[in-house]
Amino acid sequence: MRFETLAVHAGREVEPATRAVTPSITLSTTFERAEDGSFPGGHIYARNSNPNRDALERALASLEGGVAAAAFASGNAAASAVLQALDPGDHVIASRETYYGTRAVLTGAFRRWGLQSDFVDLSDLEALAAALRPNTRLIWVETPSNPRLRLADIAAVAQIARAGGARTVCDNTFATPVLQRPLALGADLVVHSTTKYIGGHSDVLGGCVVARADDEFMQRVRAYQVFGGAAPSPFDCWLLLRSLPTLPHRVRAQSEGALQVAAFLAAHPQVACVHYPGLPAHPGHELARRQMRGGYGGMLSFELKAGERAALAVAARVRLFTRATSLGGVESLIEHRASVEGPHTTTPRSLLRLSIGLEHPDDLIADLAQALDG
Ligand SMILES: *Cc1c(COP(=O)(O)O)cnc(C)c1O
Repeated sequence: MRFETLAVHAGREVEPATRAVTPSITLSTTFERAEDGSFPGGHIYARNSNPNRDALERALASLEGGVAAAAFASGNAAASAVLQALDPGDHVIASRETYYGTRAVLTGAFRRWGLQSDFVDLSDLEALAAALRPNTRLIWVETPSNPRLRLADIAAVAQIARAGGARTVCDNTFATPVLQRPLALGADLVVHSTTKYIGGHSDVLGGCVVARADDEFMQRVRAYQVFGGAAPSPFDCWLLLRSLPTLPHRVRAQSEGALQVAAFLAAHPQVACVHYPGLPAHPGHELARRQMRGGYGGMLSFELKAGERAALAVAARVRLFTRATSLGGVESLIEHRASVEGPHTTTPRSLLRLSIGLEHPDDLIADLAQALDG
């Protein structure tokens, strides 16, 4: 089945009892046992499982080409569950440019808990091979990365990881399974902040882990889902499932818009550089052409020649873009990324990040033009 068809049908069936076409929201936290003590409905208690979460997990596994998925209350809860499946003393290698929230859990709570971590430039495969240790158990890839849209070769990283006895996990939040399928490229696990493109409407927080195999590692992730307790609510799961049928259409339109906005910015005299893998000048463009298909995503960032003051002035002058963090929604957002990442950020202070929504690209370009020229 093609992706668009799966996006409509995965995890959705007409309900046998009511013939409801759209799934109901099951709020019950507990489920009745039969006389013989079994659970014929398949559910016991809502932290363990729930019909809405089950449907969402089946759909997400199917869209990523995996066999199992676990949904969480946020992307960071999903990332933490993967790290929690490791043992103290294990070593993790992550992209040098890793989402700052993931970096915060790796270097904060998990370092205190005994997990070792190094951040290396994963576009440099020799550097990756050199960073492997006998206790390296996980390589955390984020491609394209946040906020500079750096690329890593998932297949090459996964090959090096496997040879070194480590798993590869790919944060696929930016690309989504519409544009990139890490499991097919050799990754073992995919994580998402479903808050972003999968939810797509800036109205639900969520995360998920999808696995290529339902092995012992994934069972540890699931155990952490159940006992760690960062479970998404039935309504959150319902909203996310509701967003899936439009996912391929939204992401493709957002990618087309981002490409046009990127081309406009690249030609603007006040712009020092544009970070967008769809531009031929981007260092990862050739890899993106091989690794992604159907577009390069709706995220881009750019730097102003005149530095931070100019960047803040542009963000202050836009009318159509909303000044807010996050991404993947139907409305376009602009963000001075260094401000939200705090004093330890490595993001250039002259950088603005854009999340392209579903407005007409001409209107977005006109807005940026007046903000840059104002
Ligand atoms: C937002 C984000 C996360 C964290 O997700 P939350 O849902 O905010 O917890 C992780 N990775 C990437 C790439 C993100 O953009």
